[in-house]
Amino acid sequence: MLSPGEVRERARALRGAEPETVLTWVVGAFPGKAALTVSFGGGGVVLAHLISRIDRAVPVMFLDTGFHFPETYAFKQRFREQYGLNLVELRPLTDPGPLYRTDPDRCCWIRKVQPLERALAAFDAWISAVRQDQSATRSTTELLEYHEIAGRPILKVFPLARWSRADVWRYIRENGIPYHPLLDQGYTSIGCWPCTRPTAPGEPERAGRWSGTGKTECGLHTFTVKREADAVSGER
Ligand code: SF4
Repeated sequence: MLSPGEVRERARALRGAEPETVLTWVVGAFPGKAALTVSFGGGGVVLAHLISRIDRAVPVMFLDTGFHFPETYAFKQRFREQYGLNLVELRPLTDPGPLYRTDPDRCCWIRKVQPLERALAAFDAWISAVRQDQSATRSTTELLEYHEIAGRPILKVFPLARWSRADVWRYIRENGIPYHPLLDQGYTSIGCWPCTRPTAPGEPERAGRWSGTGKTECGLHTFTVKREADAVSGER
């Protein structure tokens, strides 16, 4: 694992780099120790497509909560087969039933956070498609972030941090890659069906997630502890 100073230096070197360059670096710097998480509902397909070109052995982790839309399961399968991804499906150890009705935070914890935390124990670098323009809570996302999970360091890598939604669509169209079919039906961010609705024109991208509950994140990007002093930027 890199030290915080090394992470800072690397972020400087990668400032303004395209996502492909960032991914190529992280895959080479962490052989067998870097993994990507993708929900197949948005910009993650950009990273999955790039990974399929760089190194298909890199694990592409999908959190199977048991509550995804049928379209998500079908699209995930199609995308995996088309690009030969090393798809790893993560599931909860227990089924808490429809806990989303009464305690969505705990539901997400059991169905998403705990399975990912267990899986990340085998990795030093975690790649994700989080972007700054997705929501206020994501607006400070950096290209590289030094985090800890229970005291163990992990490098979070966000190659699309400074990409816009338009950048994602440009990449999808220019490369002719498939995208989630519900994106053509008014959905702008797609998670579990009980907690996702389409958005109206002009609404923020993630407004349809846990709508009306005050909840904005599932916890996947808040359970790790960011070393604030060591956060590093990747300006375009
Ligand atoms: S998004 Fe909803 S259904 Fe999915 S894990 Fe979270 S609370 Fe449960």
